[in-house]
Amino acid sequence: MLYNQVQDLKGTIRVYCRVRPFLQGQANGQSTIDHIGENGNIMIVNPLKQGKEARKVFSFNKVFGPNVSQEQIYIDTQPLIRSVLDGFNVCIFAYGQTGSGKTYTMSGPDLTTEQTWGVNYRALRDLFQISKERADVVKYEVGVQMIEIYNEQFTLTTCTLDIRNNSQLNGLNVPDASWVPVSSTRDVLEMMRIGQKNRAVGATALNERSSRSHSVLTIHVYGKELVSGSILKGCMHLVDLAGSERVDKSEAVGDRLKEAQHINRSLSALGDVISALAQKSAHIPYRNSKLTQVLQDSLGGQAKTLMFVHISPEVNAIGETISTLKFAERVA
Ligand code: ADP
Ligand code: MG
Repeated sequence: MLYNQVQDLKGTIRVYCRVRPFLQGQANGQSTIDHIGENGNIMIVNPLKQGKEARKVFSFNKVFGPNVSQEQIYIDTQPLIRSVLDGFNVCIFAYGQTGSGKTYTMSGPDLTTEQTWGVNYRALRDLFQISKERADVVKYEVGVQMIEIYNEQFTLTTCTLDIRNNSQLNGLNVPDASWVPVSSTRDVLEMMRIGQKNRAVGATALNERSSRSHSVLTIHVYGKELVSGSILKGCMHLVDLAGSERVDKSEAVGDRLKEAQHINRSLSALGDVISALAQKSAHIPYRNSKLTQVLQDSLGGQAKTLMFVHISPEVNAIGETISTLKFAERVA
């Protein structure tokens, strides 16, 4: 292992909770967040209940309130990013109901403003920067792939650039994995822009569908130590999960019902895997969904997992907020 040897191999599963602010136009809305403690506690107030029943505390590794900036979020994520260059595998997830801020955390509100960039661009920027700093010692190659998992099917969303298959970077069980070699954050932004443009759906449809599919950005790092010739491989998955909201079974029919069932199944499969890992269980049920199969190499063992669970402060979201927090507490 090279450089910042990561001491802390115990707590390899971390859960952070992030509360989205009220959106413009609802600034004075009643909030279901009663209190955020320093120590990773959050107290939720359910306006539909009375007395003791109304308040409930949930505990995580950290809780970020509505005013926490993208930069502050990243500071608490950065050590994981660095460990990828030391040969660790890392998974970072964004979980929560549609509209709770998953895409905001992972990508940011728009690609053009660096200040609001999310975790994925900041991570890439760091990876390129650190690999440059280490260039005299290690020669790194970085490969990136974006896939979407919709109804338990993969779609490669970045297949339009000049793709060169690089066997060294093929560590994943994704069929037809094609890797785009990249050398700067700009390359990646360009790749994503092209990937999005080439999806044959309009903006509204894209948004709709993106809330019902898992989007996985995978970054593979391959490093060769110049003096010893030893090789290190690290891999990072940045996952913007499908919306976790329950679909009313009496309303959903046809495709919508099928989508909902696939989402439910894969999110609970993910929860099962992470909680089995957290409990150091002997059997980890990776095979129950495409999502957990794809991520298998980066979940468990020495891999590091970070789950951002997102909640909305609005009163009408209280049901989803509580079920999100319960899901998260199960994996924490
Ligand atoms: P999701 O991906 O979970 O469906 P989004 O990330 O699209 O949710 O967020 C929904 C809306 O809330 C967007 O308009 C987004 O810009 C805004 N938003 C989410 N989180 C934040 C935040 N932390 N600060 C400011 N605006 C946010
Ligand atoms: Mg989204």
